Amino acid sequence: MRKNWPQGIKMGVALTFDLDAETFWFSRTMDSKNNPNLMAEGAYGPNVGVPRILDMLDRQQLKATFFIPGWVIEQHTETCREIVRRGHEIGYHGYLHETTYFPEQDRELVEKSKRIMKELLGVEPLGYRAPEAILTEETIANVMASGFEYSSNTMACDWPYYHESGDGEKLIELPFSWLYDDTSHFFFTLQTPERRRICSPSYVKEIWQSEFDGLYDEGGLMTLVLHPQCIGRVSRVNMLEDLLCYMKTKAGVAIGPALDISRLAREGLEESLNS
Ligand SMILES: [Zn+2]
Repeated sequence: MRKNWPQGIKMGVALTFDLDAETFWFSRTMDSKNNPNLMAEGAYGPNVGVPRILDMLDRQQLKATFFIPGWVIEQHTETCREIVRRGHEIGYHGYLHETTYFPEQDRELVEKSKRIMKELLGVEPLGYRAPEAILTEETIANVMASGFEYSSNTMACDWPYYHESGDGEKLIELPFSWLYDDTSHFFFTLQTPERRRICSPSYVKEIWQSEFDGLYDEGGLMTLVLHPQCIGRVSRVNMLEDLLCYMKTKAGVAIGPALDISRLAREGLEESLNS
């Protein structure tokens, strides 16, 4: 069996939230900006979802990563400061949640968002998640050159692995799957392109728990990708809390921010390379 984790750890669960807020809607179509109700749906994330999620995480004594576009930090600064105050990690997620196919533009967006994070929150992001997980061939090289410690974007397998550059530099990847993305199961909108999924929390919990059980046996990684405007509804936060309680009953499961899980993964991969 593959060895992905250091001694004593059987499985990693990276608990991540993409706080896209209103940018979630701009990045579908810029017209969304002129629709106050769509903007309100986006603002529900920081205004209602995040406080509910933060309280649940406190109850469970768990820390998480919040990947946040720079614009959201400018517009919802106090909410983002509260996330930092409560001990959670902040990761990079674009400025306006834009997808870019130009490496130069990607570098500019990274610089701009890093500046905003430093000025308004006093933090430097070490994790990179591209909006919509859309990457170009050059993105990973950019991520390495920009001083990030890990990436959580690609979906090659369900355990951590390395991206390697030509000169031997390595970047740890925490892959995810659309299966672990809340919007795959819950995202409903009448806006074009339409999405009409409102699954019951118990149905989604069954999928996530079965994946967790299988990956636990295999010693894999589960990277939950959750959006406060989607998972932040009360029935879904309750389901997530039940699931996390279940995970905590299993020995050797590391549940935490992506940065912590990436460091464990790096340690495990180095041990296995050296053994
Ligand atoms: Zn996003």
